[in-house]
Amino acid sequence: MSFNCPHCNKEGVSYFSKLLSYSGSPATCRICGKFSCDAGGVNESYRKIAPLSLIVLGTSSLLTQSLFYISIWLGFALLFPAYSLYVLKLEKLSGDEVKKQRGKKLIALGGLVLLACLAVLYESFR
Ligand SMILES: [Zn+2]
Repeated sequence: MSFNCPHCNKEGVSYFSKLLSYSGSPATCRICGKFSCDAGGVNESYRKIAPLSLIVLGTSSLLTQSLFYISIWLGFALLFPAYSLYVLKLEKLSGDEVKKQRGKKLIALGGLVLLACLAVLYESFR
């Protein structure tokens, strides 16, 4: 199952690449090789709120011993990707934009590594 690529208008974007695409990790077209991602950043917001909601709703359902909260979560977890796949269209993403996003990711990763090194240094000099 494939979706139409916004660049060449052929079915070059696979089901999973569309589902997993966001600006930091776009889908690549099999036919023209250009990048695209889900419009509106829905996948990105899902990625941000999904772990938190799972924890909050999971804890609430454990505490109340009811499946109510977990079924909200399940509905939400199923509806979100379905909405993103079938309602939203793919948005064009240029190679430059992708590079910019990757650069941001590298900076964030570098910061984390630096923090880890500092923590190790701090521990060994204490
Ligand atoms: Zn294409």
